Amino acid sequence: MNAEILAVGTELLMGQIANTNAQYISGRLSEQGINVYYHSVVGDNPRRLKESLELALKRSDVVIMTGGLGPTQDDLTKETVAEILNRKLILHQESLEKIKAFFQSINRPMTENNIKQAYLPEGSLIIRNDKGTAPGCIIEADGKVVIMLPGPPSEMKPMFEHTVIPYFSEKSDYKIESKYLRIFGVGESAMEEQLIDMIEKQVNPTIAPYAKEGEVTLRVTARCGKQENAAELIEPVVREITNRLGNAVYSTDNKNLEEVAGELLINHNISIALAESCTGGLVTSKLTNIPGISKVLNRTVVSYSNEAKIESLNVSPDTLQKHGAVSKETAEEMAIGTREAARTDIGVSITGIAGPEGGTEEKPVGLVYIALADKNGVCSKELRLWGDRSRIRNTTSLFVFDMIRRYVLKLD
Ligand code: ATP
Ligand code: MG
Repeated sequence: MNAEILAVGTELLMGQIANTNAQYISGRLSEQGINVYYHSVVGDNPRRLKESLELALKRSDVVIMTGGLGPTQDDLTKETVAEILNRKLILHQESLEKIKAFFQSINRPMTENNIKQAYLPEGSLIIRNDKGTAPGCIIEADGKVVIMLPGPPSEMKPMFEHTVIPYFSEKSDYKIESKYLRIFGVGESAMEEQLIDMIEKQVNPTIAPYAKEGEVTLRVTARCGKQENAAELIEPVVREITNRLGNAVYSTDNKNLEEVAGELLINHNISIALAESCTGGLVTSKLTNIPGISKVLNRTVVSYSNEAKIESLNVSPDTLQKHGAVSKETAEEMAIGTREAARTDIGVSITGIAGPEGGTEEKPVGLVYIALADKNGVCSKELRLWGDRSRIRNTTSLFVFDMIRRYVLKLD
């Protein structure tokens, strides 16, 4: 089965938004063993939309469309598809009730044009939308499948997961399951070296590495009959990889490092205070993505200036004078200072040079110190990072989460 993705929206053509829907859908389809041969984008123009869809239906078994399902005049995907496939649009009562209830729940009146969203092509399988108003649908016609999904990713993704993926797995006579291993602290090439024999002889399951900003993800994908147990194929491979990479593997269920660190703090009930200099609150901001973190996160001091380090964190002016703001000594005093001020179990600090200016030969851009203090003392780590300002700040945050993870799990 081959598929193509047709994104609808003038905004996409104008460069106002990126076509992340196509990226997401492609990724998920390839995991399901469905080949995607084309991506196309067309504006909110009925004639060109019609032409694009006709072309897509000629060359692909499945056409997945996103966008243009909303209530406004320029939302014309459904109308165009219905015309080409020669289907009537009929009112789907259940969807109408849901749209009414949605407006009630947000305490806004439902306007007349919202009713339009509840009209769907005759004989289609409805994809309910729990995050918004426009339902999607799957239409089978003349051996082809057309799937329509709304544009906003927050609505499209869950609909894709709860209806489109099961729709495809139902159709196929095998199933595909993946497990994701998240790895930090070994580069992609070093990791590949350690796993090269496994990667070379892989057949089923397959092992696919991909790297982004200091982190590596390994996808282990098994394909098997519907009655078979995919885990039996996947688990031994996951175990072998974890044996080889050791505690660099921080998650085997696709959690990111901030989630792992945050949940460890919560589950072990370890209270934390931070002191952030070059990350300016980034680490805290990421931590506050974790539900329940308020149980353990006490405070953060964003101590950008030397005065702030002295006044709020009790860093000694001598230390700053002698070693500088970006130094092991300052980082350690910051960690101790924030812990003492907050009376938490641990204090964590970050100080560094994110660039592009401010580097010297002795202390280049990318030099960062992170430290962790607890009741027994303080430890710190020197990082030498590369990249632009945002990459350095982001990679620093990963090292901080890894430091927390290793501390809680008592790893070295
Ligand atoms: P709505 O009911 O919100 O109008 P819709 O199905 O009509 O939904 P559009 O009007 O085409 O969708 O797009 C709504 C928003 O969804 C866009 O402003 C954009 O933020 C996002 N969006 C649309 N298409 C894409 C895409 N291909 N990739 C990522 N985001 C998209
Ligand atoms: Mg719209």
